[in-house]
Amino acid sequence: MIRKAILVACIAMPAFADETIADKYPQSVLYDKPFEVIPNVWSAIGATAPPTYENAGHNNNLSFIVTGDGVIVINGGANAKLAEALHAEIREVTGQPVKLVINENGQGHAMLGNNYWTDQGIDVLAHVEAAAEFEEYGPQILEGMKRYARENSEGTRLVAPTITFEDRYDIEMGGMRIEVLHLGPAHSPGDTQVWLPEQNLMIAGDIAFNGRMPPIFTETCTSCWIETWETALEPMNPAYIIPGHGNPTNLAQVRNHTVGYLKYLRGKIGEHLENGGALDDAYYVDQSPYEHLDTYNELATKNAGVVFAEMEFE
Ligand SMILES: [Zn+2]
Repeated sequence: MIRKAILVACIAMPAFADETIADKYPQSVLYDKPFEVIPNVWSAIGATAPPTYENAGHNNNLSFIVTGDGVIVINGGANAKLAEALHAEIREVTGQPVKLVINENGQGHAMLGNNYWTDQGIDVLAHVEAAAEFEEYGPQILEGMKRYARENSEGTRLVAPTITFEDRYDIEMGGMRIEVLHLGPAHSPGDTQVWLPEQNLMIAGDIAFNGRMPPIFTETCTSCWIETWETALEPMNPAYIIPGHGNPTNLAQVRNHTVGYLKYLRGKIGEHLENGGALDDAYYVDQSPYEHLDTYNELATKNAGVVFAEMEFE
C-alpha cells in the first residue's frame, strides 16, 4: 500500500498527500515541499491525516502568493517552527518580502504559528469570528499541539491576528487582485476563502476538502455549510481550488468530497430518524461510498453522531 503510493508519487508530480505516508519531506519540519500550483501560487500540501509528531501538525495546506510586490502567506501553520520552515521555502522561490499572513479559520493549524510572523512585524489577517474562536480556545489548542509536536512546539506563543475583517477584505498587491472572503457559515467559525478572480483560483480553506473526510464538529451546522456552498461558492465557479485539506483540484472533486459527503450523510441520518432510529445505531449508518477517504476510520462514526444530534431537532 505504502510502496504503491510512493510509486505513484514518483511518476506524477506533484506528490500526493496521503494518510499512510508519515512524512514526505524529512529534511524539513514541513510534511511536504511547496510546489507551484499555477504561476505564482504555491502550496505545501499537508498530510491528510490527524496531526502527529511525524507531520509536526502540518496536516493542512500552507500556501503563498508571490504578487510581484511582496508575498502573501495563507495560514500561520500549527507552530512557529512550521512557519519558519515555510519562510525558508519562500526565500528559495523569491526575494520578495512576506507582507501579510492570512488565517483561514481559528484552528490551531491556521493560527498557532502566527507569532513567528508578527515577531517580524508582519500583519496577520483573520475573520472576526475566527479570531474570537482562537481567543477562547487558544490555550487548550496550544497545549494539545505541545503534546503531539513535542520539541517542534518550542518557540510557539499565542498571538492573535493583528487585523480582522467581517464581510470581505480586498487587496491589490503587485498588480494582483486578491479578495479575502467569508462566504458564510461552513466548517468552523470565520471560515475564510482567498479568491484570485483573474487567475480563477480559490484557496478555499476548510469549506472544501479533497481526499480526506471532513470533520464535523458539534458546533458545525451542516445544512448551513451546504447552503453556503450552493448559494455562494458554486456560482463563483472557480477553475482551480486549493482546499483546506488535500491536493489542489477542481470544483467537481471538492464538491463530491465535501458537500457530496455532507448530503449523503444527512440523507442516511434522515432515513434513520424516519425509521425511529436512536443515537446508538446512528453511528453505524452506511458510509461505505466514502470509505476510501483518508481519516475515515477516525471520523466516520463521530460525524454520524454529530449529524444525528443536529438533525434530531430540525
Ligand atoms: Zn483545517
